[in-house]
Amino acid sequence: MDFSSKLLENAVNEVSRLPGIGKRTALRLVLHLLKQPSDNTKYLTNALTQLRTEVKECKKCHNISDTELCHICSNPNRKEEIVCVVEDIRDVMAIENTGQFRGLYHVLGGKISPIEGVGPQNLNIESLVNKVKSGEVKEIIFALSSTMEGDTTNFYIYKQIEKYNITTSTIARGISVGDELEYADEVTLGRSILNRIPFGDSLKQ
Ligand SMILES: [Zn+2]
Repeated sequence: MDFSSKLLENAVNEVSRLPGIGKRTALRLVLHLLKQPSDNTKYLTNALTQLRTEVKECKKCHNISDTELCHICSNPNRKEEIVCVVEDIRDVMAIENTGQFRGLYHVLGGKISPIEGVGPQNLNIESLVNKVKSGEVKEIIFALSSTMEGDTTNFYIYKQIEKYNITTSTIARGISVGDELEYADEVTLGRSILNRIPFGDSLKQ
């Protein structure tokens, strides 16, 4: 691309670093911003800067939060002893949307994937095992997507916590293997949380 402006080129280069955004799309977005009132760009950059400087990770569940403890963990009406294990905040949002779950979450931050170089040590697994060890958790619900990485991660965690004799279950999804949790419809997802099946049974299938 031959730019008439170095400033334009810099902006396009930065925007095109985002996933799924090629140079052409980046140029379109930047030209769009140029046509808008300059305040709009200011709001956008302020929102992003504020996000990066002020956002926190909930010290209990590792969810993205504005406060030390997220609004779910700090809600006294939630059942602390039931913990739903998810990959990231999108899964928390999907399950919260169903309105069917009253426990807490534990956000792993990914799935075990040797191909992508993600091992158990790269995920929030130790803090989960510690919660089980300390006795504060009575039931773990696995709600990772049913991909090979999801299954591997579930099984790894299950092996770590098996000896503490707590209830382990997995959400019984009526959606096909490989579907991501965030795309499951709310009714199906809500039902699958209520009708969760013992984790041991899911291994026999
Ligand atoms: Zn939290």
